[in-house]
Amino acid sequence: MSAQSGSENLLIKRHPDAPSYLSGNDLGPWGIYLEQIDRVAPHLGKLGFWIETLKRPKRALIVDVPIQLDDGRVTHFEGYRVQHNTSRGPGKGGVRFHQDVTLSEVMALSAWMSIKNAAVNVPYGGAKGGIRVDPKKLSRAELQRMTRRYTSEIGILLGPDKDIPAPDVNTDAQIMAWMMDTYSMNQGATVSGVVTGKPISLGGSLGRREATGRGVFVVGIEAMKHLNMPMHGARVAVQGFGNVGSVAGQLFMHAGAKVVAVQDHTASLYCEAGLDADALAAHVAVNGGIRGYIDAKAEVQNISNESFWSVPADILIPAALENQITVHNADKIKARLVLEGANGPTTPAADDILKDKGTTVVPDVIANAGGVTVSYFEWVQDFSMFFWTEDEINERLARIMREAFAAVWQVAQDKNVSLRTAAFIVACTRILTAREVRGLYP
Ligand code: NAD
Repeated sequence: MSAQSGSENLLIKRHPDAPSYLSGNDLGPWGIYLEQIDRVAPHLGKLGFWIETLKRPKRALIVDVPIQLDDGRVTHFEGYRVQHNTSRGPGKGGVRFHQDVTLSEVMALSAWMSIKNAAVNVPYGGAKGGIRVDPKKLSRAELQRMTRRYTSEIGILLGPDKDIPAPDVNTDAQIMAWMMDTYSMNQGATVSGVVTGKPISLGGSLGRREATGRGVFVVGIEAMKHLNMPMHGARVAVQGFGNVGSVAGQLFMHAGAKVVAVQDHTASLYCEAGLDADALAAHVAVNGGIRGYIDAKAEVQNISNESFWSVPADILIPAALENQITVHNADKIKARLVLEGANGPTTPAADDILKDKGTTVVPDVIANAGGVTVSYFEWVQDFSMFFWTEDEINERLARIMREAFAAVWQVAQDKNVSLRTAAFIVACTRILTAREVRGLYP
């Protein structure tokens, strides 16, 4: 989430709770998070006594990551690992390699992991890490050296019972394998549970790749029941046809819905009769994007990126980037239901527009929590050295997602608040209850 896009509606003035190490008005995503906590605070009753706990990360580590490039030069990258809260368990959250990564962003993402993990009631706190780097400019050998040095530098924070990284933007199973190996080498023993999202050959979990998209689908079914929306023939628009978007699109299609529109970084497609999501995913696997996809049986139209947002659809699944639904397109959206596959796809101002229009938004902290839920299963399997079948994983994932959705839906009804505020209420209540019961050390 860039500071620039976050400035759409807030952060002109410095938040009074901003920490001294974020300078000036440049609070970025952390400022958005603080505003969200301000909004939920009045709903927390006597637990509000502990609210300050949520307004500052427990630990924020900045590390220098020097590596030797293939041509012999040495270059330095800035890396971060932030543990926002560990009241309910070890820190848990991904590692992002991106040229725009900032401390503010990593702090906010770590806090949103605290909220997400508590919202789905997995026994973790929240953490996140990142390196300010464009990994596409590194060779594979350089990428490995950078990953290993970073892992070693943040190693003082890591451990299967302390802080467990996972993949995020531009990091994958191979990078998790290098992180696991580096940590294990420093420990002198193989520690598979120190990261999740690993290759299956190293203790990764079946179903992890599909877990986030599957979770989007499961909460989608629950929301549709409440909204009396039939699955058969429901029109679905998906932004982003990568890991999350393609799996969600395929599951909706196989359940009887029609994927009428898809947008990715290469094109925007519309097909009134419904795209074949399986064939489109196969096309993306070969071509790297949806551009050029043709269907022998249905007419597929190329549409402009702007008109994607106004296609006639019942369900919209943003599953690409942050800040995609903004004041510039929120009023055009026709869908009754938005399922946030991506993290932070809707700006707070756009959220208000959707609320006024009566659009139901299932927020990211619930809708895309399937990934961290199966990461939790992976961690449990690594501890017990006993691995589950894919059916067992999918069944347990669906149960957790359904229970989490039901709890949040109920709070939204009881308190007449949005599902996002309700998810924050549920999550903050769990975190602060743990905080209160543990008491203040010393
Ligand atoms: P991915 O890299 O597999 O796919 C990203 C998709 O977004 C691609 O289809 C890409 O073409 C598209 N995209 C990129 N730039 C775009 C643009 N400017 N306009 C339209 N589309 C664009 O990533 P992913 O793993 O599917 O993650 C997508 C989102 O879901 C991210 O916000 C991520 O943080 C979030 N998320 C992912 C997981 C997970 O387990 N993978 C878990 C929770 C949240």
